[in-house]
Amino acid sequence: MTNILIFLGPPGSGKGTQAEKISEKFEIAHISTGVMLREHVDRKTDLGIKAKGILDEGSLVPDNLVIEMLKDRLDSEDCQNGAILDGFPRTLPQALSLENDEKFSIKSVIFFDVNQEELVKRMLERGRSDDTEESIKVRLKVYSNETEPLVDFYSKKNLLTEINALGSIDEISSTISELINL
Ligand code: ADP
Repeated sequence: MTNILIFLGPPGSGKGTQAEKISEKFEIAHISTGVMLREHVDRKTDLGIKAKGILDEGSLVPDNLVIEMLKDRLDSEDCQNGAILDGFPRTLPQALSLENDEKFSIKSVIFFDVNQEELVKRMLERGRSDDTEESIKVRLKVYSNETEPLVDFYSKKNLLTEINALGSIDEISSTISELINL
């Protein structure tokens, strides 16, 4: 059974930064589906070739492809101590795919709360190739349509803790550390 910690929140809310710190501190794997997908694009794998246009426009890669990629990754040796999922699940079918697999036990879901103005500012500053104004608009919309409903989904299961993600990196990381018991 693999213990799972989910970092849920809008694009630009700092999930990746915090996941990196927390994974080091607790010696658990950090899995970012966004990073994995961008690696596939760079390596021009079959998945990467399918995903490239989708990433650039800010839409979501189809559930079946992302679910398969993630589950493969969770099978690796370095996930035995547990894993932080950063950017997954992003849709209800993705959430159900974890739910319905008894290999996984979701310990907690941390929801990163940040206002939209701050998100846009952060993403434009970060300047990744998919951080154009047009794609940011699409990503925020996709987030509110597809991903935000998961806040309710996990909250009803009593798994959700909301944190204010507007403080300093260290402040937020100590808040999260206190919440974790894997
Ligand atoms: P951000 O921090 O801006 O949300 P990510 O690095 O998490 O960026 O993701 C970048 C892109 O990768 C997304 O816009 C989407 O196209 C794709 N992606 C990442 N995770 C998923 C997922 N779970 N399901 C579908 N697409 C995904």
